[in-house]
Amino acid sequence: MLSNMSSLNIDLHCHSNISDGVLSPVQLLARAAERSVNVLALTDHDDTSGLTEAHAAAKHWEIQLINGVEISVSWESNTLHIVGLGINPDALPLLTGLASIRAGRKERAAKIAVQLEKAGVHDALAGAWRHAMNPELIGRMHFARYMVEQGICADVQSVFKRFMTRGKPGYVSHQWAALADAVDWIRVSGGQAVLAHPGRYPLGTGKMRALLRDFSAAGGEGIEVVTSNHTPEQRARFTELAKQFGLLASRGSDFHSPGETWRDLGRLPALPATCRPIWQNWDLN
Ligand code: AMP
Ligand code: MN
Ligand code: MN
Ligand code: MN
Repeated sequence: MLSNMSSLNIDLHCHSNISDGVLSPVQLLARAAERSVNVLALTDHDDTSGLTEAHAAAKHWEIQLINGVEISVSWESNTLHIVGLGINPDALPLLTGLASIRAGRKERAAKIAVQLEKAGVHDALAGAWRHAMNPELIGRMHFARYMVEQGICADVQSVFKRFMTRGKPGYVSHQWAALADAVDWIRVSGGQAVLAHPGRYPLGTGKMRALLRDFSAAGGEGIEVVTSNHTPEQRARFTELAKQFGLLASRGSDFHSPGETWRDLGRLPALPATCRPIWQNWDLN
């Protein structure tokens, strides 16, 4: 309970240019320091290679950096994101699991480009790769930035709306990691698995409960109650579900870049007082 009331500004979800953020890990830590973040988890999509650089910068700014990752998962017909916190990035099952997801991303990117070409968007594969700062990691955001650069859409949100979401011309369905595998890689490496931004999944009450049952049974421990785009109603709903399923609550901005999307680092409501925070047993100071 006490740690809920703590004055620490804790942000356990954000991206660097190792995945689809725009700031380097060093720039990201400087921004976190400017915004008085005390505890930050770097959670790049399917890649942990930013952590070494991030740790050096975190030391400089006296920020407590938590090793994190955000793993892409397919559950039934849905794509979900599972955040791993306190992971060991050198653990072999995690390393090999993430490498196979990244390989799948490359294949998906080639298919996306073919679809976009049919929709009249040229040279999208090379264009997207130019926006990917990590030769190992390409995603829809890199295509979106290329299309904004080309003047095809005014901003990345519009690209997603017109081209990159299910049913739209540049959308390619994809098989990501299995839920139980992703949770296992995280746990075996010593981390805690957290269901990311639950309010963003188009799941009704029954399906959400089925997901939380599967997630808990797999060893998942936490859920993001406070995240960038949750409404007060969603925070209340996921506080209640966390209680029912015995899950710990997390707080994360899902920051990607200045001005492009969603919330800034550390600029989020506090966890509701009745939540048990995911950091309750962490050694924070
Ligand atoms: P991917 O993992 O390649 O499928 O891309 C997923 C990423 O795309 C998310 O992590 C966000 O960064 C971004 N994204 C997804 N939907 C939207 C949206 N509607 N508007 C802006 N960015 C989005
Ligand atoms: Mn992203
Ligand atoms: Mn996500
Ligand atoms: Mn994210």
